[in-house]
Amino acid sequence: MLWIGLDDTDAPDGGCTTYTAVRLMRELERAGAECVGRPFLVRLNPNVPFKTRGNAAVALRVEGEVDVREVVERVLDELTGDHPETRPGVVLYPGRRPPRTCEVVYKEAVRRIVGPSEVLERVDEVEVLRSGRGVVGAIAALGFARLRGREVTYEGIAYREERFWGRERRVVEDSVWRMDERTFPITFDNVDRLHGEVLITPNTPCPVLYGVRAVEAWVLEELVPELVETREPVADYVVFETNQGTDAHLRPVGDLSEASDYESVVVEVRVEGEPRRIRGGHVVVPCEDEDGNRVDLAAFAPARPLTEVVEALRPGDVIRVAGAVRPETPKHPRTINVEKLLPLELAREEREIRPICGRCERRMSSAGRGKGFKCRRCGDWAPEDAKVRMEVPRELVEGRVYEAPPAARRHLSKPEYLVDLGLLEPSPIREGG
Ligand SMILES: [Zn+2]
Repeated sequence: MLWIGLDDTDAPDGGCTTYTAVRLMRELERAGAECVGRPFLVRLNPNVPFKTRGNAAVALRVEGEVDVREVVERVLDELTGDHPETRPGVVLYPGRRPPRTCEVVYKEAVRRIVGPSEVLERVDEVEVLRSGRGVVGAIAALGFARLRGREVTYEGIAYREERFWGRERRVVEDSVWRMDERTFPITFDNVDRLHGEVLITPNTPCPVLYGVRAVEAWVLEELVPELVETREPVADYVVFETNQGTDAHLRPVGDLSEASDYESVVVEVRVEGEPRRIRGGHVVVPCEDEDGNRVDLAAFAPARPLTEVVEALRPGDVIRVAGAVRPETPKHPRTINVEKLLPLELAREEREIRPICGRCERRMSSAGRGKGFKCRRCGDWAPEDAKVRMEVPRELVEGRVYEAPPAARRHLSKPEYLVDLGLLEPSPIREGG
């Protein structure tokens, strides 16, 4: 058996890396090889500054007497030859199970920023066919494939014929809603119910027609391709085993001094000031961890209603938060881009309200600062201490996890409703640091 790991043959959303892998599978099959099991689609640290949302790598297994190197070279030349921005990494490993060193690389690459030279120093068991920046992901993908006891989900990806690339995707939206109705929650994040949006078609000009995620593979293999109707031909359809939706990128830390910039963490913090809404509808709130390290939490407009959750925080609230750590700038302290938020202890919020006139049963008006209250109708007066303190019910609920909606969810982020339904293991934000 021969393992192939590849990465960074891609466009922004990572769809092209999976396309390269699928093309490679088909070319190897044409040459007489057999692909064993499902290929692996592995998402890595989503906070790498030179990547956008994607950051995907693929691992696959083949068997048979085929000149794999020749086929790999041919497919890569064809697909990535004239894209100067791709820095492919391709590695081969003959054997039943990739080496343990790859597993270590996966665990780091899904959370931190790891450089190619660092990785190649550590992993000397693999044959490197392309040693671009993508070699980190290529090796990490083999590492994920090797992990025992890992949590997985699946994605069935349909690809377009080349003549349609860049054109509008013709997927019948009604059929996606029907597919969702019949297969949710075994498939998930197909649609955004709040905005009435279909989410399975990407917005990038990549060769992906649609991708459907699921907690079990059989729905993707047996039902989804039948249920999703398209008005353009599906050139290919492959079901990947993946680390998407597993929170594999999150690392619980005791306080922020343990966290590196661009890492995604779970940490407990205390709200230290009022939330403020900034330009673009983003919301920021100042916080401190247990050790007094300052950090801002930021929720971005597309993650609404998470922005409203952050806006509902009050000084004194103790919360557990999951998200990516962005470095300090001259203007801002370190910032966590909130993915999930769990209120642990909400501060009591009280409001003082004006008293009610005993005669007219109407709320009295202020008679001026510190001068008590008077009734507009009958002229009666009440002293300053007649005002009533009332506890205002908080909008947030202790112990409930708030998260970004499907449209703004990161590939790696675990949908909490799947945890509630018992379909995925409890997420790190529920287990704490
Ligand atoms: Zn009155």
